[in-house]
Amino acid sequence: MSRIAFIGLGHMGAPMAQNLLKAGHEMVVFDLVPASVKMLADSGATAAGSAKEAVRGAEVVVTMLPASKHVEGLYLGDDGLLQHIASGTLVLECSTIAPESARKVGEAANEKGIRMIDAPVSGGTGGAIAGTLTFIVGGAVADLEAATPYLEKMGKNIFHAGDAGAGQVAKICNNMLLGILMAGTSEALALGTANGLDPKVLSDIIAKSSGRNWATELYNPWPGVMDHAPASKEYAGGFGVDLMLKDLGLAAESALNARASIPLGELARNLYSLHSSKGSGALDFSSILNLYRK
Ligand code: NAD
Repeated sequence: MSRIAFIGLGHMGAPMAQNLLKAGHEMVVFDLVPASVKMLADSGATAAGSAKEAVRGAEVVVTMLPASKHVEGLYLGDDGLLQHIASGTLVLECSTIAPESARKVGEAANEKGIRMIDAPVSGGTGGAIAGTLTFIVGGAVADLEAATPYLEKMGKNIFHAGDAGAGQVAKICNNMLLGILMAGTSEALALGTANGLDPKVLSDIIAKSSGRNWATELYNPWPGVMDHAPASKEYAGGFGVDLMLKDLGLAAESALNARASIPLGELARNLYSLHSSKGSGALDFSSILNLYRK
């Protein structure tokens, strides 16, 4: 069993860390929110007072942070975490961030003899709790092989997308499609309901017809249609509007860099931006339905 430092214990990180803990690894955890650290400590992990303290003596480091600025801020710089991680350590950076940031941090790690993969995830909080996440990995094949026993404790599907940063590119494409699908599903349900249909009946029809998708099958945006979905819990938990907005921003940046055209992605980004500006940034992204609902 390995000594693992886990940093970033939010909606996703906390259950992922729990699954590594259940597998019998020695865990040292840190988050800026003391209550999140305490929750893991109550389950048997060792609480660290800082990220630097957490990585001391760790064989594996996992980070699950909000965005590029948090990842670059944590790892880089004169007193960044890379200065405190031992050479040969394996780092699994699981946050969704810009591919350029992943490459920059990955290269800086490699220069110090630290092995790093970008391993963003898909599958939401439900997948994180159940240990069924999809990992979309960028980096060296040998590093992915070394990481696989740990990834398997947190996920079910592991893909190698390519070199450093490639995991982030694939993840951004997936999430742009997810943002479009959730807005489209909300639009269809709102249209049907405004014309007298029961949203549950319409959802059941779509789920077995050609418009079916991840939202109609597992994550319906209409409250009460699926008991387990954030929509039925006042859009609490899940994947925040502002995180979706961040991913759609990353898609826009990537499109600009590659001179690619993403008209639907840009439209979705504007919809989530409008929704966030109305005070909904912390709600689950399926609350985009409220923009359409009468
Ligand atoms: P979150 O905001 O719930 O958690 C992030 C955690 O990081 C917070 O607890 C915060 O305190 C901590 N943190 C920030 N900076 C830190 C630092 N310097 N040191 C220690 N801790 C720090 O976010 P989340 O929903 O868990 O998402 C995490 C990442 O996973 C994001 O990049 C997101 O895009 C991605 N993601 C989320 C979901 C989802 O459904 N929530 C799904 C797939 C991918």
